[in-house]
Amino acid sequence: MSVGDKTVRSLDMPVSPEAVDASSTALERAAPFRMEYASAPESTSIISIAPQYGLFINGVMTDGASARRPVVNPATEEVLCHTTDATSADVEKAVAAAESAFGKWRRLAPSERAKYIFRLARILQERSREFAVLETVNGGKPIRESRDVDIPLSAAHFFYYAGWADKLEWAFPNRRVEPVGVVGQIIPWNFPLMMLAWKIAPALAAGNTVVLKPAETTPLTALLFAEVCQQAGLPDGVVNILTGAGGTGRAIVEHPEIRKIAFTGSTEVGKGIARALAGSDRRLTLELGGKAANIVFADAPLDQAVEGVINGIYFNQGHVCCAGSRLLLQESVAENFLGRLRRRMEMLRVGDPLDKNTDVGAINSKVQLERIEELVEAGKAEGAELFQPVCPLPGKGYWFAPSLFTGVSTSHRIAREEIFGPVLSVLTFRTPADAVAKANNTAYGLSAGVWTDKGSRVLWMAQRLRAGVVWANTYNKFDPASPFGGYRESGYGREGGWHGLLPYVELSD
Ligand code: NAP
Ligand code: MG
Repeated sequence: MSVGDKTVRSLDMPVSPEAVDASSTALERAAPFRMEYASAPESTSIISIAPQYGLFINGVMTDGASARRPVVNPATEEVLCHTTDATSADVEKAVAAAESAFGKWRRLAPSERAKYIFRLARILQERSREFAVLETVNGGKPIRESRDVDIPLSAAHFFYYAGWADKLEWAFPNRRVEPVGVVGQIIPWNFPLMMLAWKIAPALAAGNTVVLKPAETTPLTALLFAEVCQQAGLPDGVVNILTGAGGTGRAIVEHPEIRKIAFTGSTEVGKGIARALAGSDRRLTLELGGKAANIVFADAPLDQAVEGVINGIYFNQGHVCCAGSRLLLQESVAENFLGRLRRRMEMLRVGDPLDKNTDVGAINSKVQLERIEELVEAGKAEGAELFQPVCPLPGKGYWFAPSLFTGVSTSHRIAREEIFGPVLSVLTFRTPADAVAKANNTAYGLSAGVWTDKGSRVLWMAQRLRAGVVWANTYNKFDPASPFGGYRESGYGREGGWHGLLPYVELSD
């Protein structure tokens, strides 16, 4: 459903608790594309990690002799391997390969391009167990999430955009449709393969070629994807993958032959990239942070709302740009709701990400853990009250207990800044207008959630919330056909759906 230029996604209401398998959790129920396995992929024996990795340029993996950057399993602090930091000279080579491939790729019959993209999607499905375990080992997220959300949604994204490749004339009627050229794509560490899919799939479908940089802490599924490109017989140079840190990202941004940059990450780096491209005709889409309001009205089905709030903030340890990190409770129901929420938090299992019963895994990196700790200390110092369930945390690795702050005021840092961790800030409101005012009182505008029994109220709220995605009686639901993106400091441009093609096509009359 669309309201103005927003996406409104809604679960068919009402859903009785009995309609949902009692043994499944909210996080499982959130998974839109499930794959069934004969047994859970909890074993690391199905993955193989090389001691060192090079760069994927022009269809070839370089030897990795200069790999120096350690890749760490955040749940154990074990060094898994070393990767190479791509230099400006490497970026130069990758761009040259992508330019040379562009000449042929853009002229390929669109139906042939589609075949390659379908092939990538199918191989991702076939190798999904390997991808899921690798994503979890490298990133710290629970295997159930990698298995049921990240990897299936990544494959779904390739399937979806493969379908567009030979329908661009239909997508943009009466316009001449051309690809943009070589595109540079820079992605974060919270959904490594999924962000790669969101970036690469539409770019290839529209006939562009790609230079992509994964985040420094989570390069392994991108490197495995390079192998998938080889396996699919994708023409050399169509996809190039360069590992590295901020310096590599900067070299990609600054390369004049890259016609478009797609960036997902922090608002701070996003603003820097916008400044670097200002005044040029090079295109840019930014998907930055968020501080979403998850709004619960007194008439909401409260048990369902509790599950949705848990899913909204503790899914992927809260490392989610659209996380429902501000809970707005209608005053008359606030105490009742908080009681239920605290009891539910006590049931969350924190620990080994490879255990399929784990709900909350490891924090992605030491740096991110320190950032979360710093903001939680600030919340305490500003006078908010912290609740954490009793849960033993493993001795090694980076961990943070699921956390809830009450007594939060809109001026507190924990109500304004993106924590990007399993930390929920609770505020209250009286009227729908009050809820809208509090929800919109943020520099961000990526997403919001509304929990109510009244369809009319959902629409009333969706029209007023300054958020790119509004979920109604559900949260963190993703679909490749649905555009995703923000207002204000959450960035600009949309990924997913027909809208997601726009940044990758040049239209003329
Ligand atoms: P970040 O630095 O913005 O990272 C995003 C990507 O940009 C990474 O691949 C990063 O490389 C690269 N990068 C860093 N500096 C760059 C530069 N100057 N030019 C071009 N590319 C550059 O984000 P972060 O440091 O990992 O996380 C910081 C905060 O950002 C988090 O605490 C969270 O609040 C927010 N965040 C938001 C999202 C989102 O989905 N919107 C995702 C991640 C983080 P490196 O990996 O080497 O940094
Ligand atoms: Mg960074």
